[in-house]
Amino acid sequence: MEISTESELGPIRPAEWHNYVAFFLTLRCNLKCPYCINLHDGGSRSTMGKRTMDVESWIKAANRLELRPDLPLTLQGGEPTLFPGFFRFVNALKPGLKCDLLTNLTFDVAEFIANVPREVFLREAPYAPIRVSYHPGQNDIDELVWRYFQLEEAGFRIGIYGILHPDEEKRSHILATKERCLKLGVDFRTKEYLGEWQGQLYGQFKYPGSVMGGQLRSCRCRTGELLVDPAGLVYKCHADLLEGRAPYAHVLDADLTADAIDEFRACDSYGDCNPCDVKVKTNRFQQFGHTSVEIVDVDGLAQ
Ligand code: SF4
Ligand code: SF4
Repeated sequence: MEISTESELGPIRPAEWHNYVAFFLTLRCNLKCPYCINLHDGGSRSTMGKRTMDVESWIKAANRLELRPDLPLTLQGGEPTLFPGFFRFVNALKPGLKCDLLTNLTFDVAEFIANVPREVFLREAPYAPIRVSYHPGQNDIDELVWRYFQLEEAGFRIGIYGILHPDEEKRSHILATKERCLKLGVDFRTKEYLGEWQGQLYGQFKYPGSVMGGQLRSCRCRTGELLVDPAGLVYKCHADLLEGRAPYAHVLDADLTADAIDEFRACDSYGDCNPCDVKVKTNRFQQFGHTSVEIVDVDGLAQ
């Protein structure tokens, strides 16, 4: 992995079947959701201890992307707006490069409006480019709604998302919040709960035993996504990224092309897959049945 100067960097041009390009600018977050998979504030995941890329490197990485109109660069984390160079980054992107933002919307809205070009986060899509996660007990819904309208008035398109938790009380709260928000004209949508709750696994997963499988198996796996961690390292799945496990490239490698995404790679962690990667879900065209990764040759499992 030889990191190169800007002039040597070739384009990364995702193919039609590549579904997601994400820069995890930082895994830091100012909230402390108990179910957070990112473990920040000194968490033990190895990614946390790694060098983080400076903003000029992120700009070089972004500007080598040649993305289709229907495939934005998603900025996520942690809370991506906590990345110190966030405003510099969004202002230095090449014309036409579109971004989505996944945020908890705790940032200073006036500062955001004053410093972020609208066109970076505006594009035709069946969902809002700026997507806010509502975490009951962590961020306040009335505050979110107020910020929502501030951003909307300033010309941004945003949506708020709540998770339909299996716990009846939490679920009812989200559904009531959704109803209240829709009446106010807020784009509020729900997402299904993924993972374990009181001994039961929630979510529809394509590969048996891949999530909380209890037993780790070897396999070969590939993704349709370009996933880049705060250090600029590229991974074949979310579980690998969050564990800092087996990066296959650096986003500033001169010879990195989108072809590298398609390679099946050996993995010994089948059973510890992240629900995001193996969940049967809706793709960017809002079509159901998509799975982020393709897994073959699972040791001890009939295919
Ligand atoms: S807002 Fe997201 S990243 Fe931050 S603690 Fe909550 S779940 Fe984790
Ligand atoms: S098998 Fe699971 S843990 Fe291994 S690379 Fe694929 S998604 Fe990631």
